[in-house]
Amino acid sequence: MMASATIWVLGLTLSWFDPGDEAGGGLKRFEFAETHMGSEFKIVLYSVDEPTARRASRSAYGRIAALDAAFSDYQPDSELMRLCDRAGGPPIRVSDDLLDILQRSRAMYEKSAGAFDVTVGPVVRLWRRARRDRKMPAPDLLERARALVSTDLMVIDPKAKTVQLRKPGMKLDLGAIAKGYASQAAVDTLRGLGIGRALVAGAGDIVVSGPPPGRDGWVIGIAPLEAPNAPPSTWLSLHDAAVSTAGDSERYVVIDGRRYSHIVDPRTGLGIVDRSSVTVVARDGATADALDTAVYAMGTERGLPLVESIEGAAAHIARATASGITVLESRRFRSIPRADPAHSGEPSAHLKP
Ligand code: ADP
Ligand code: MG
Repeated sequence: MMASATIWVLGLTLSWFDPGDEAGGGLKRFEFAETHMGSEFKIVLYSVDEPTARRASRSAYGRIAALDAAFSDYQPDSELMRLCDRAGGPPIRVSDDLLDILQRSRAMYEKSAGAFDVTVGPVVRLWRRARRDRKMPAPDLLERARALVSTDLMVIDPKAKTVQLRKPGMKLDLGAIAKGYASQAAVDTLRGLGIGRALVAGAGDIVVSGPPPGRDGWVIGIAPLEAPNAPPSTWLSLHDAAVSTAGDSERYVVIDGRRYSHIVDPRTGLGIVDRSSVTVVARDGATADALDTAVYAMGTERGLPLVESIEGAAAHIARATASGITVLESRRFRSIPRADPAHSGEPSAHLKP
């Protein structure tokens, strides 16, 4: 039996296929799903028996839940929100996880020349309201929010394990990196328990370890931007890698005929108006997730060189222009092994984030 699943993300479809229950080598395929971080996290893993698979998945979900409790910007008592409550005050001691994700966030801020910026919280909040009311944020509110946005105002001391937010009112938002980070953490947890062939997908943020038994890799498909419900046009074969997409999602708002994305330009405080989607393959989940958002916010001209500069990273960018859809791929993307198109049958499961 062929088993498969499709994730519909951001107007673009990522799908995967694997060889079904009886995989050989005494390993069987198990599949789990739970909601964390406001998204469905799916786990597919190969294990000798069901009790082992269940135990391992429980540990992996436990790890994801712990990260959610630390990183959430919805739960007022999360570690992140407690840190934000102290903005304008002294340096605060943080957990190893929060320190790690903030250091990675700062690194992407620097590499993207400020296009990726987790201090966008105040601006993102205004846009959440704008989406609800279908009205542009008021200019004075936008101006005030923008003054609170800059990773330069976040001081990290890795030795003391402290973080200081220098202006009162600053708000961190890890929405562009947390799901990829958590998917990676879950895959690492599974590996630590001896499960080395697994896929974890937090909505569209997918991380895979070793391939299914008897396969070269996990088969992951990218559907065309112009027909997100059509079968994927590109099939990749991946192992020990992460894939993530950002772009033109359900989360946008049209005001006066302009379509604003939920991804904002930190410098202008405005939602990006480009209609495009960015799929990134990278060595780890946090890098893939952060990089897709960075490239989307920077635009393709500046985004592609950024991708090329990151070891092991590759990108596929589809852009809707006046003259139709244009597709751009980084050099490394073209050398990722393609999967057998014979696998592109009818998907048996659908996930809608
Ligand atoms: P998703 O897969 O949930 O759409 P993305 O990886 O595309 O997530 O990130 C989008 C989220 O990142 C937004 O909802 C917002 O919380 C946050 N965000 C928006 N703009 C930026 C930016 N320029 N830099 C960092 N984070 C951003
Ligand atoms: Mg992202």
